[in-house]
Amino acid sequence: MNIHEYQAKALLHEFGVPISRGVAVLKASDSEAAAKQLPGPIWVVKSQIHAGGRGKGKFKEASAGDKGGVRIAKSVAEVNEFAKQMLGATLVTIQTGAHGKQVNRLYIEEGSDIDKEFYLSILVDRESSKVSFVVSTEGGVNIEEVAHNNPEKIVTFSVDPATGIMGHHGRTVAKALKLSGDLAKQAEKLVAQLYNAFTAKDMAMLEINPLVVTKQGQLRVLDAKVSFDDNAMYRHPEVAALRDETEEDAKEIEASKYDLNYVALDGTIGCMVNGAGLAMATMDIIKLYGMEPANFLDVGGGASVEKVAAAFKIITADPNVKGILVNIFGGIMKCDIIAEGVVAAVKQVGLQVPLVVRLEGTNVEAGKKIISQSGLNVVSADNLDDAAQKIVKAVKGG
Ligand code: GDP
Ligand code: MG
Repeated sequence: MNIHEYQAKALLHEFGVPISRGVAVLKASDSEAAAKQLPGPIWVVKSQIHAGGRGKGKFKEASAGDKGGVRIAKSVAEVNEFAKQMLGATLVTIQTGAHGKQVNRLYIEEGSDIDKEFYLSILVDRESSKVSFVVSTEGGVNIEEVAHNNPEKIVTFSVDPATGIMGHHGRTVAKALKLSGDLAKQAEKLVAQLYNAFTAKDMAMLEINPLVVTKQGQLRVLDAKVSFDDNAMYRHPEVAALRDETEEDAKEIEASKYDLNYVALDGTIGCMVNGAGLAMATMDIIKLYGMEPANFLDVGGGASVEKVAAAFKIITADPNVKGILVNIFGGIMKCDIIAEGVVAAVKQVGLQVPLVVRLEGTNVEAGKKIISQSGLNVVSADNLDDAAQKIVKAVKGG
């Protein structure tokens, strides 16, 4: 789960992390009052969307102007002017894709005088199975570019969970950022605060870009992107409450209600598969035969008729879907039960596009018989290769 920048900052602030003061607004008419609560003389008007690259982003609407999704305002009136332009407009950044994201919230902050910009992120490194830090003096820019062009400018280390965060970790960060004296002390304190926030809230990733040194000599978090471990959300109702469903794909929200592992993609072939590995293989083979999957969908091991029907509804509701491939391995579940589920689901939700079903495993013959005798326009396939070729052919032919 992701949250907005202003929510992430409020959360980090609970752990003592230094941030700028700010006020979130949903309506342009609230922007003046929000700005007046902050001292000035400069304010930053920040689009709140679940995507980065906002500063360099462009609005689709000409009426929103060409100053990007993060703007420096020099007066309260200008804050109001920007708010009117940005709210409701669609911001396109390198992370949103071409369709962009509508800006429904703004965060109005007191502006900082920036001396230096750094990069700092914390994530769960699956290779070392530890919480790891990534730090660089090259902040405010795309970290992937730094990793590519100047890998020596990135310092990484992981924290042993048995000892937790220690003084030397903070000193490593201070050294990597070439900080000394009071700023080094601030860095050490910040590293511990960030680590505590990360572990206490079960974050999966925390990215601060930029972390800045102000001209007044203060270390400050100017941007924060946080995502959480979904499997740990039950422990944090206060975090779950921050969820903004308008930022998420409607199909993914629906899928999560049925406990389906679903990710919407850009292709045209809808996939319904049990098991994440098989789902990946199915997506690969669709690509091999020259088309693109419309989604990743793992219905799980114990898929019921209800679950299969829900999955079907989600797939067929996507106007991009021009064909559906069902690829199920009956292990714990028997193929005849699955076939019954598929037939029931198709009868329930109707079918406007070709459907190819490949079943394998326990009771496969009984399963195939149910499909072939259902009277529905379902194409049965013998193996994964056959299934992929059949669905691609059916979609291209149609
Ligand atoms: P992003 O583009 O989505 O990563 O959004 P950021 O929050 O990182 O803002 C983009 C850029 O705006 C930052 O890299 C800064 O250079 C600039 N910026 C953000 N806040 C301030 C501020 O308080 N003062 C100044 N001078 N620049 C800021
Ligand atoms: Mg940023």
